[in-house]
Amino acid sequence: MKKLLALVLTGVLGVSLLTACGSSSSAPSAAAETASTEGEAASVEAEASSGSALDKDTLIIGTNAAFPPFEYAGDDGTPAGFDIDLINAIGEKLGKKVEVKDMEFDSLVASIGNKIDIAIAGMTVTEERQKMVDFSDSYYEAVQNVIVAKDSAIASADDLKNKKIGVQLGTTGDFIASDIEGSEVSQYNKAVDAVNDLLNGRVDCVIIDANPAQEFVSQHAEELTALEGTQFGFETENYAIAMPKGDTALVEAVNQALKELKEDGTFDKLVAANITGE
Ligand code: GLN
Repeated sequence: MKKLLALVLTGVLGVSLLTACGSSSSAPSAAAETASTEGEAASVEAEASSGSALDKDTLIIGTNAAFPPFEYAGDDGTPAGFDIDLINAIGEKLGKKVEVKDMEFDSLVASIGNKIDIAIAGMTVTEERQKMVDFSDSYYEAVQNVIVAKDSAIASADDLKNKKIGVQLGTTGDFIASDIEGSEVSQYNKAVDAVNDLLNGRVDCVIIDANPAQEFVSQHAEELTALEGTQFGFETENYAIAMPKGDTALVEAVNQALKELKEDGTFDKLVAANITGE
């Protein structure tokens, strides 16, 4: 949005620039003119935005507490897990109170900058999401797994064709499943419901991030198994914290806090306390 605003402004200030941009934005004349309009574009941007979330005493955090071990309903029903511990530690570093809201995963990105200041939800950095939000540095590397019944013949990417696949709505697992030839994708708000439908035989497999996959399978170790995404050619994904687009002050502060938590050993302690096998 802001980029668009800057572009429109640039266009108003210099039609010649717009023409130059059309062919190549790296043309010397275009570069020079960009430099001269940059200051004005930046000041309009600042006016248009409501300021940094860093100006607030309490940061409102959105998560989806149905994605163990990163977030789940804790003993008292409030969100707990690695991401919650991490964002609390970040809040402490920033001297901010942190209030965690449990929401549907699929509504998190659109809520950033209005209902919530930050989302932390085992969220993978994707190009599509980057159009709407800014991400922190990545804090965890993940890959999708395929959960199947133990007696399933599914073992390769080809085997996923024309299958009924359960996913959590709006997740990278959902995007991958929808791209598979002939797939019939069932989208659930809660991943656990996809797993239940796998147990009931309503879907042939569930595509979901590795750590939650292993958590869900461990609750049904007799019936289910989680297959490594690499055997299906799935690419690795990076989890990061999502923030309002253009709130560089917040992004920089969160990155600095993340860096300090890694340096002082807190990050590794949280990983060890929350994530099995790490
Ligand atoms: N990592 C996946 C994604 O970002 C799933 C996240 C989740 O379900 N909480 O889409």
